[in-house]
Amino acid sequence: MIVVLVEHSQGVFKKKSLEAVLYAAHIAKEMGTDITAVAMGNVPDSEMQTLGAYGAQKVLHTTDARLDNFNSKAYAKVVVAAAQKENAKVIIGLHDTTGKAVMPRVAARLQAGLVAGAVGYPDLSKGFTVKKNVFSGKAFAFVNVTSDTKVISLMPNTFPVVKGEGSATVEQMEAGLSDADFSVKVLEVSKASGSVPLSEAELVVSGGRGLKGPENWYVLEALAQELGAATACSRPVADAHWRPHGEHVGQTGGTIRPNLYIAVGISGAIQHLAGVNGSKTIVVINKDPEAPFFKAADYGVLGDAMEIVPKLTEAVKKFKAGQN
Ligand SMILES: Cc1cc2nc3c(=O)[nH]c(=O)nc-3n(C[C@H](O)[C@H](O)[C@H](O)COP(=O)(O)OP(=O)(O)OC[C@H]3O[C@@H](n4cnc5c(N)ncnc54)[C@H](O)[C@@H]3O)c2cc1C
Repeated sequence: MIVVLVEHSQGVFKKKSLEAVLYAAHIAKEMGTDITAVAMGNVPDSEMQTLGAYGAQKVLHTTDARLDNFNSKAYAKVVVAAAQKENAKVIIGLHDTTGKAVMPRVAARLQAGLVAGAVGYPDLSKGFTVKKNVFSGKAFAFVNVTSDTKVISLMPNTFPVVKGEGSATVEQMEAGLSDADFSVKVLEVSKASGSVPLSEAELVVSGGRGLKGPENWYVLEALAQELGAATACSRPVADAHWRPHGEHVGQTGGTIRPNLYIAVGISGAIQHLAGVNGSKTIVVINKDPEAPFFKAADYGVLGDAMEIVPKLTEAVKKFKAGQN
């Protein structure tokens, strides 16, 4: 059996969790087994049943209201309880803020080998060998997990999310949670302002110090809105409070793997690239032909951001109008 941790936002499963279920379903098929998803907090049964369309046969649901706010200790306890109940040999989560905190705890509790940041399916012809990111995404490692139980955290946006058919059964699960499991309490949650969550975005428009100041961000926001993209930024931009820190990507910020990353006025320092070099297509707009980012770009536009970006936005508008 494979157990997969799924996350939701206000009762709706996140796209990256559907990706984790599909990933688990692929492995389950190869191993000739089934998958059980683990959901926590306030999620309607109808939403949980939809996980069947992504390959889950069953959902174990722990409703404790204290789980509505993230708590790594309590979440890990629920995942471990589910893994033990299902006698799971593989446990899957995401390599996101939740998974980075929860999956190592789960692996330690189950004495399981952990692959953190997987970007490929396990190769069962070579034991249980999984491709993962190393050195901030600058290289790959192939790791063979030899423990009886295996834990994988999957890099979000690695595989496409395609809905199939089917409905999962839902079962309530008591995980034996006590007050001691909630010794760290979340007092307040500030939601990111953008309409598309950065970690799940397939398209990202990002700005650097070349934008000169927060008053110029409207050009990036207009392009992002037209594309249905999330916005991101380099670290100095967040440090200067031009943009919220939740948008900062790189070695010390978020790691993203969108289908398209448009970098505007960003030099392409190695610490920035560490967070974005898993992007499938990179477009760089910069006025300096020597900017290092051009070396990592699939497409480069040499010129002033304040001239190029509005033209690009207009072109996207026209393209969309032509499609209607
Ligand atoms: C330990 C450590 C960790 C770090 N972590 C991160 C991190 O996580 N993320 C991160 O981003 N950085 C990080 N940094 C900082 C990193 O080294 C760079 O300093 C930073 O990425 C540079 O940001 P920038 O490209 O926005 O600014 P700059 O380096 O100042 O580049 C601005 C770019 O804009 C271009 N430009 C200027 N005007 C225009 C215009 N009108 N039109 C078009 N282009 C224009 C310039 O040619 C230039 O290439 C870290 C540094 C250290 C030491």
